[in-house]
Amino acid sequence: MRRLLILSLLMGGCAASETHRSESAAPVSAPAPMAVPNHTTTIGYSVQRRPIELHQLGGDVTRPVLIMGAIHGDEQTSAAVASGMLDYLTKHPESMRDTPVAIITMANPDGYAAVTRVNANHIDLNRNFPATNWSSRSAGRARRNFGGAASASEPETLALMQTIERLQPRLIISIHSMEKPCNNYDGPAQAVAETMARHNGYPATPTIGYPTPGSLGSWAGIDRQIPMITLELPRRLPGDQAWQNNRDAILAAIAIVR
Ligand SMILES: [Zn+2]
Repeated sequence: MRRLLILSLLMGGCAASETHRSESAAPVSAPAPMAVPNHTTTIGYSVQRRPIELHQLGGDVTRPVLIMGAIHGDEQTSAAVASGMLDYLTKHPESMRDTPVAIITMANPDGYAAVTRVNANHIDLNRNFPATNWSSRSAGRARRNFGGAASASEPETLALMQTIERLQPRLIISIHSMEKPCNNYDGPAQAVAETMARHNGYPATPTIGYPTPGSLGSWAGIDRQIPMITLELPRRLPGDQAWQNNRDAILAAIAIVR
């Protein structure tokens, strides 16, 4: 009974959105095709109980392009670009060309709030994924890229893993920043990286120049063969400029994996 009530509330919420959309978009005699509303859901909570939010855009939410910002909290430009894409696609859904897009603007909200690379447990989330190359020996706790005493130990990592397993994205773009910007690819994503390179001018490369055991690229791209781009923005570029410089690259990536 309780489940029925929740279901009916959910359906009621969606119906309300649909009604609002059809009123403004199409005459009654020629209704617009049934579209799934844009949903925002909380996929988990950080160590300090901040919500991690997922925005799902598009008419079909299966196998989206998943865009993530700020898994490293001190790379704040990455959140600006992910937020820019969320705003842009909300206003210009035709840019998705029927490819669903899911966006997590802030994968490490505690790190973002504290302006730290790591989460509140001092763990580098992008070394905490249970990839086959994960190793506790690769970095000590004092290091800035400590991957945890065990893989998948952090609530943020688990939320991201569960979301990726559930969504089965056709492409993941995780946005970072570093001194040498690049379109780094793991798994079958070389063509996507080369397409993005033509738009943002950063090289397409299979490595960022050093090993990244337990990274999302290792877990999702190499182990699971999900096309995976680690978009490294220039470190000191202001967020609005990074967005302007990368909008077309990300839109081109979305278009190429239709
Ligand atoms: Zn990073």
